[in-house]
Amino acid sequence: MERAVCERCGEKQPVDWKAGDLCLACGAAVRHEVRCAWCAEWVPAGKFCRSCGCEVVNEILYGAARMLKSAGVDRFSIAGKLRELDPEQVRNLSRIYEGQLAVVLRRCEEARLCEMYLLQKTHSRRLEESPVPSAAEGGTACEITRGGTRCQSERLCEEGPNKRSSA
Ligand SMILES: [Zn+2]
Ligand SMILES: [Zn+2]
Repeated sequence: MERAVCERCGEKQPVDWKAGDLCLACGAAVRHEVRCAWCAEWVPAGKFCRSCGCEVVNEILYGAARMLKSAGVDRFSIAGKLRELDPEQVRNLSRIYEGQLAVVLRRCEEARLCEMYLLQKTHSRRLEESPVPSAAEGGTACEITRGGTRCQSERLCEEGPNKRSSA
């Protein structure tokens, strides 16, 4: 497989390099990556998601885009819908998303605190990723909160009490 090359210093990265890892030579981000608003994978900040084909939206619009997704807007309409929406509504959606995110980030902080006393320091990282499970882990990402209760897992989303109303 072709190895990733640092956008800043040009150094080739190890074969086990994965998206998000910093450059071994210069310590900078190897390439500018954003989360896909649809599948939540980290992808290069290009035009379309390499994982699902959704148009990549500007990272400052990520929260608003996720709100549209949870409202049922389809994969190929999210970016267009964002351009159509009243900017005030976009800000409003972003604000709602940020509020939900803040709840999860507090839990992550607590997990980091607990980790200080643990040998394995991986739990908070996993928790941070959990609001946006990757497509590889089961496709549709559950949202952070549903009616105030946080989804425990993908299974809960699909089959449990937090079962998604839309497909
Ligand atoms: Zn570098
Ligand atoms: Zn995607």
